[in-house]
Amino acid sequence: MSGSVLLACEQITMAFGGLLALNQASLAIYEGEILGLVGPNGSGKTTLINVISGQYRPTAGRILFQGADVTGLRPNRLAHIGIARTYQVPRPFHSSTVLDNVALAWMFGRRGHSRREAQELARETLAFAGLAEKVHLPVSKLNLHERKFLELARALALEPKLLLLDEVLAGLNPSEVQLGMALIRQIHQQGITLVFVEHNVGAVTELSHRMVVLNYGQNIAQGPPEQVVNDPAVIAAYLGEDYRGASSQEVGHAAG
Ligand code: ADP
Ligand code: MG
Repeated sequence: MSGSVLLACEQITMAFGGLLALNQASLAIYEGEILGLVGPNGSGKTTLINVISGQYRPTAGRILFQGADVTGLRPNRLAHIGIARTYQVPRPFHSSTVLDNVALAWMFGRRGHSRREAQELARETLAFAGLAEKVHLPVSKLNLHERKFLELARALALEPKLLLLDEVLAGLNPSEVQLGMALIRQIHQQGITLVFVEHNVGAVTELSHRMVVLNYGQNIAQGPPEQVVNDPAVIAAYLGEDYRGASSQEVGHAAG
């Protein structure tokens, strides 16, 4: 970890009518880290990813990426400067093949490759994601874990500096979770900074360098995993008393 701030959220508020999905949330993402972002259902995790990746313009607050104010930039513009995300519910182009889904991202990503180059690169990315055998299938033939890993491959094809992962491990069986965690480690080793939203607290504490806990759209705790999971405010809001003292192996899923 180099220790410099890659992205900073400053007092971000996101209102939907009278509901504050984010309520003056501030946090920093450091270059080279894996940041685990957790919190109860509805605490604003996906909204924060939507705001950072440009799906929503925040009602108030600023987002700085590499020191520049990027608040309100459109998703494709943010992708070009190095911010990519996956969706909690995968959103592939169903009518095209697995290969074309990833090739499109290479064609329209940061460096803009030709179709031919993009297809070669897409094969490599798909092999990395364990989908080499599936390249010519229509996306509709993929099961959930394959769709989730296709999402990852598509995001990687954008060559991000910062990759935001929204529950990539949700719904996977234990061996698929292990595969997913191994992929995330390899992505990190390529030098990509990761934000990892996940309900599987065992996986988050194992993978993350730091954690941030959201509750009602506010950052209620941040720090090293072992500190955060023992924080009384986090136990009260999210983990529950049963979590205290348990190892990551014993506790797969927190409530919510
Ligand atoms: P999480 O990902 O932590 O479960 P979300 O960010 O999806 O939570 O949601 C936070 C709150 O904002 C919830 O109350 C949710 O219903 C609300 N919300 C999220 N997106 C929208 C939207 N587009 N319109 C209205 N309410 C929304
Ligand atoms: Mg969510």
